[in-house]
Amino acid sequence: MCAKRHPHAYILSFFAHSSAAGTLRVAVRSPPTRVPPSSDTGGVADFLTPAERSERMARIRGKDTGPELALRRALFAEGLRYRVRYRPFPENRRMSVDVAFTRLRIAVEVRGCYWHGCPEHYRQASSNVTYWSGKISGNVARDERKERLLEAHGWSLIVVWEHERLGDAVERVLDAVREARDADAS
Ligand SMILES: [Zn+2]
Repeated sequence: MCAKRHPHAYILSFFAHSSAAGTLRVAVRSPPTRVPPSSDTGGVADFLTPAERSERMARIRGKDTGPELALRRALFAEGLRYRVRYRPFPENRRMSVDVAFTRLRIAVEVRGCYWHGCPEHYRQASSNVTYWSGKISGNVARDERKERLLEAHGWSLIVVWEHERLGDAVERVLDAVREARDADAS
């Protein structure tokens, strides 16, 4: 796969347009989400907005999406250390969580409003309705399966939606980590 831009160039330009005060949604809609050439995407992707297309391509390539990267960077700045794309389930090695505090068994998942069917913001696409609604219900079902597995393995899960304020999401994760550490220490 031929990357047209150096990955670090993307990260730097992304953060130039985002700030901790903004929402995660603002971050993902920021200008550096360059539209990939159509030869990369095939015809279907032409119905997507640039932000949706960008996230889709990121998922296909297994790269980080804007909101997740913004959250990870903020957590790191708070002094937290974590595993990325961690696979907690021996019986299902393909299923991973976005961010994991392995000793405390806390998982954090960052979900895009569109792709994960956010109850507040998901709107059905006007074209290719059957294909896309099937795709999104598949994602939602997979999220639910993952939640059940995490619970069965004694993990707690923090779900962060793309529309949330970054600062609020960071606070929630910090609270959960502190609480788990306190429980661990006592
Ligand atoms: Zn939403």
